[in-house]
Amino acid sequence: MQLPEKRTIAIIGAGVTGMSAAWDLVRAGHEVTIYEAGQAVGGLAGGFREARWEWSVEKFYHHWFQSDAHLLDLLDELGLRAHVIFPRPYTVIYHREKWYPFDSILHALLFPGLGWGLDKMRFGLVGLYLRLTKNWQALEASTAHEWIRRWAGRRVYETMWEPMLEGKFGPYYQDVNMAWFWARLHARTTRLGTYRGGFQQFLDDFADRLRTQGVRIHLQTPVTRIEPGENGPTLWVAGEPQRFDQALSTVSPALMTKLAPSLSSRYLQGLRDLKSLGAVVLVLSIKHQLSEQGYYWFNIPKSAGFPFLALVEHTNFVSPEHFDGEHILYCGDYLPPDHEYFRLSADELLARFIPAIQRINPHFSADWINQTWLFREVYAQPVPFVNHSRNIPALKTPLPGLYFASMSHVYPWDRGTNFAVELGRRVARLMQDKTS
Ligand SMILES: Cc1cc2nc3c(=O)[nH]c(=O)nc-3n(C[C@H](O)[C@H](O)[C@H](O)COP(=O)(O)OP(=O)(O)OC[C@H]3O[C@@H](n4cnc5c(N)ncnc54)[C@H](O)[C@@H]3O)c2cc1C
Repeated sequence: MQLPEKRTIAIIGAGVTGMSAAWDLVRAGHEVTIYEAGQAVGGLAGGFREARWEWSVEKFYHHWFQSDAHLLDLLDELGLRAHVIFPRPYTVIYHREKWYPFDSILHALLFPGLGWGLDKMRFGLVGLYLRLTKNWQALEASTAHEWIRRWAGRRVYETMWEPMLEGKFGPYYQDVNMAWFWARLHARTTRLGTYRGGFQQFLDDFADRLRTQGVRIHLQTPVTRIEPGENGPTLWVAGEPQRFDQALSTVSPALMTKLAPSLSSRYLQGLRDLKSLGAVVLVLSIKHQLSEQGYYWFNIPKSAGFPFLALVEHTNFVSPEHFDGEHILYCGDYLPPDHEYFRLSADELLARFIPAIQRINPHFSADWINQTWLFREVYAQPVPFVNHSRNIPALKTPLPGLYFASMSHVYPWDRGTNFAVELGRRVARLMQDKTS
């Protein structure tokens, strides 16, 4: 296929991946159009803002790490870096009905869950090895379940890491590969950041920069079909065909199989073989601070019997002043899409959650609650099995001019906005590579 120098390019999805690709493609001189099904840009990283609030609240709890270099570099290019702040919130871990800060080497050393002997030493040494080694490829042939038990010992695994894996990957947790676990320890810092005004403010500012460069962003405009053509793909939008020289889709693999059924059967099967979990998050606005100690992130092991995995008091990270004095709390979990939490109403979920929230603060009661919001997403957390690198679908699909980039392409790193930026920019480079 002969491509003109200045191409017409469509991007399906105004999430961070699609917007990052658009940024590079438009500045390379191409004519870029983004189609977004939702009412706003941002996808999973987006937020909502009540009229009385100064800042937006993320639908799904979000923060950045100080090590998020791709994201911070992009913010520099956009001239938005000055809006990033790094407060120092407390992350805590559960042990026998108590919460212990767990966000520094000192706190890890003081954590009583591992005793004071050999186990703590093994925990420290394995943690250090994983921070220092760069050879993740050697780790992807083992599951984290086997590898950690072998090298750190059963007690360390069962106390520290099995609960985290089980919480995040539910039924698949014993099958997740060790490279993913390595990446998680390797890439994350304890300092956490956000954007003044909230993530939605960042995404809106980013969209403004794109529009200024000439990118057309069509909101509430889902693409319903992608068809191959000799000179590039045709997208069906609002019942009309639109032809482009190239197109990039950033939707979930499952949706991609429906949008582009004329992909080769091998490529489609590869998409179907990818596994993922959904997320269910109930956001509460409450009248008082829940954690009197000011804890932000509660890591909760499944064995502790809470009806959710993560409890996050957002206003112990950013001040309640930005939300008209209200305190914002998230109760969230990663679950298979057939889990009952995908069917229960917000009130039904709340009835289950209230006794658990009272375990954090016994004074909490239903009359503390101002308002709730419920967010659910079936494609929220890809699951990387052993040797996942062999199963990642090619960014360049077999259909001429059609590219596909999703969270399932992010590897060995855990998906996140930082890696969505990296992925978007990588696929933009590939789309411009004359030899590809
Ligand atoms: C519970 C949870 C917590 C998270 N926490 C963090 C965190 O703390 N920090 C962090 O950095 N990241 C976090 N992430 C991950 C982060 O949100 C994602 O990695 C990132 O937003 C993915 O961006 P994306 O563009 O690849 O996908 P998406 O954001 O899913 O974007 C895809 C877009 O495509 C649109 N779309 C779908 N179908 C169509 C269609 N037919 N036509 C047009 N448009 C369509 C969607 O509406 C969406 O806007 C979290 C995610 C979840 C679920």
